[in-house]
Amino acid sequence: MASQIEHREGERARVLIAGAGIAGVEAALALRDLAGELVEVEMRDPRREFAFRPFAVGEPYGAARIFRYDMEALAARCGASFHSDGIVSVEPRQRLAVTRDGERLSYDFLLLATGVRMLWAVPGAVTFWGVADEGQVGDVVADLRAGRLRSLVFTMPGGPSWALPLYELALFAASELAKVGRGRTRLTVVTPEDAPLELFGRRAGEQMGQLLEERGVEVLAGAHPVAFEDGRLRIAPGEAVEADAVIGLPRLEGRQVVGLPHDPEGFVGVDEYGRAIGADRVFAAGDVTAFPIKQGGIATQQADVAAGLIARECGAGVDSEPFDPVLRGVLWTGREPRYLYGRPTGGHGETSSLSERPQWPAQNGKVIGRYLTSFLDSLSDDSGHAPVVGSPSMS
Ligand SMILES: Cc1cc2nc3c(=O)[nH]c(=O)nc-3n(C[C@H](O)[C@H](O)[C@H](O)COP(=O)(O)OP(=O)(O)OC[C@H]3O[C@@H](n4cnc5c(N)ncnc54)[C@H](O)[C@@H]3O)c2cc1C
Repeated sequence: MASQIEHREGERARVLIAGAGIAGVEAALALRDLAGELVEVEMRDPRREFAFRPFAVGEPYGAARIFRYDMEALAARCGASFHSDGIVSVEPRQRLAVTRDGERLSYDFLLLATGVRMLWAVPGAVTFWGVADEGQVGDVVADLRAGRLRSLVFTMPGGPSWALPLYELALFAASELAKVGRGRTRLTVVTPEDAPLELFGRRAGEQMGQLLEERGVEVLAGAHPVAFEDGRLRIAPGEAVEADAVIGLPRLEGRQVVGLPHDPEGFVGVDEYGRAIGADRVFAAGDVTAFPIKQGGIATQQADVAAGLIARECGAGVDSEPFDPVLRGVLWTGREPRYLYGRPTGGHGETSSLSERPQWPAQNGKVIGRYLTSFLDSLSDDSGHAPVVGSPSMS
């Protein structure tokens, strides 16, 4: 492992975090805990609001809303400073990052946590963007409630993804149909996965399949959506699926910055400590990394690993553990939630499950992270989820 950075009397190591999303906030919290006064943390993000997307699936059904937090206030609570500006390029040899406004920032360590860019994937389908839904998903749900749809399909493209929202949207739809007593609308999930939510593991996938069957949702697995036109969703391989409406998830691409090596889809390769391959003193965590599972819980684990090594290199007497991913997911079903658990790296035996109780200490929240879950919960008021930092707004 690399040796500690050179000691500069009276100076704190400067850690720059590009991206104040899930991985960025978790990293700031971890650094505050592990490195304390040894580091000075600055966060940069072109947005001013942290939007908590995992609640977005409930929004079109009126069951939840996306919460937004003022990033500057949030960063201050993490012991970091915040400036609203994106990082556009990095010069790792000079340890310099350049912002959109042309500012040149020197750092001792840079953590890239810039997430993904979401791209339209299925022509003709309504895309569920998670945040910037302009009401189209809501319109489909209104048609569903009014009995105007005989067949509704939920789908997602192949490639790196986070499939949970797809199943949540379908289960919410099933529960809406049960509420309004319209059992005749056909609900189908078309997925490139070999089994629903297979990334959690075989057993969880089977249990997920059973749950969907119990709720009347059909699954067409191993099928890639091509385009929706003339009431038919073309898929590959296989015969087109008839549908009155199709809701699709977007395709994801890494939000890399100039000067850092990345793969053709924009994802940054990292080692088991989160160090960006080919760029000294640069770390990456979250969806922007080449790790194929894009999930908030995984993003927090990557952030913790990177923060652990940075803290250690700054002289904090902490152990730094390599990345050993554990998937923990809270599945909203339109009724009582279910809890998904799995170890994606294999070699641990088949441990995955979908259960009525979590296999981890119960916490409020949908993204399970060592620091982030309780931190966001602490921002809630007594009613459960309303943020008290900054000014919340409905999307
Ligand atoms: C609808 C939906 C539901 C989900 N449900 C769940 C769930 O139930 N559980 C779960 O664990 N995960 C869930 N996820 C996945 C989870 O939201 C992501 O995996 C997680 O947000 C990834 O964190 P991140 O920090 O890598 O990226 P983000 O949280 O997206 O943060 C990236 C930040 O980087 C900023 N940025 C971009 N470019 C730059 C730049 N050049 N310079 C500086 N900053 C930049 C962005 O503005 C953004 O604030 C869901 C996702 C969606 C879309």
